[in-house]
Amino acid sequence: MKKRNINIFDTTLRDGAQATEQNVGIFERKAIGEGLIELGVNVIEAGFASASKVDFETIKYLAKKSSDTNTHIASLSRAVEFEIDKSWEALKFAKNPIIHTFISTSNIHMKEKLNMSRTQVYKSAVNSVRYAKQIMNGKGKVEFSLEDATRTDKEFIAKVVEGVIDAGADIINLPDTVGYAQRGEIKDMIEYLKFKVPKINTVQISVHCHNDLGQATANSLEGILFGANQVECTINGVGERAGNSAMEEIVASIVTRLDIYGDFTTSIDTRKFGSLSKIVSEFFNMKVQPNKAIVGNHAFKHMSGIHQDGVN
Ligand code: MN
Repeated sequence: MKKRNINIFDTTLRDGAQATEQNVGIFERKAIGEGLIELGVNVIEAGFASASKVDFETIKYLAKKSSDTNTHIASLSRAVEFEIDKSWEALKFAKNPIIHTFISTSNIHMKEKLNMSRTQVYKSAVNSVRYAKQIMNGKGKVEFSLEDATRTDKEFIAKVVEGVIDAGADIINLPDTVGYAQRGEIKDMIEYLKFKVPKINTVQISVHCHNDLGQATANSLEGILFGANQVECTINGVGERAGNSAMEEIVASIVTRLDIYGDFTTSIDTRKFGSLSKIVSEFFNMKVQPNKAIVGNHAFKHMSGIHQDGVN
């Protein structure tokens, strides 16, 4: 049987860069982006175009730089036209651009953060996807994220997902924005959507997990097992608060546990994790804990699963 490729969507330069107190400059961002292309990621979320000049310039640089590769370049924008315009301005020279737009759909965020009703949020979501598709004019993809999906009413998730697919979304991302989900909940959300919105099978399903309760990698892998074909992650798990799911942990799990993940594959060159991990750690001024899985200094004192006799 042919293995199914899982798209590795890296957001080190967006969610990660947003989280470090270090001011990561353009030189460093370009170097990380080039490292990610070499590593073989499918998508680089290179920044949030309207957030800063350095984000914009990084996106623009990687858009051009990736044009002789298959790497997709994404730019994040809130679900408002002027931010989508800014993303497109930065992305337009990419061979494979992705405009990524999002709005929060949980009751708590809609009330406290957005001060918007369900109807207003639904309309913003659908209109922004339609607008992004229209300005891209057939070139590239639109990804839509339902921010705080894991704390959103399931019926409302289904309604928004159906609406944005009809508006042309190519990728539906389901973020566990505050790192809240526990075992079984990502599975339940995807299975519910597949049951309620069968047309979800015509688009890519993506998960984006945070590590506030230490479940980011486990939740991402659960997403893969139950139908997600894209995972959003970062090098060293850098990201807001406790971080995002760590790419090296997800990929290592897939390649190590063929008995579980044997149907899946990725395009990642795992030999390049070590050097990229060091670069990200240095440029973000975020030390990697020595016992960090896969990339920590102590992680390979024994080969995985092969311990000396008498040592447990
Ligand atoms: Mn995030």
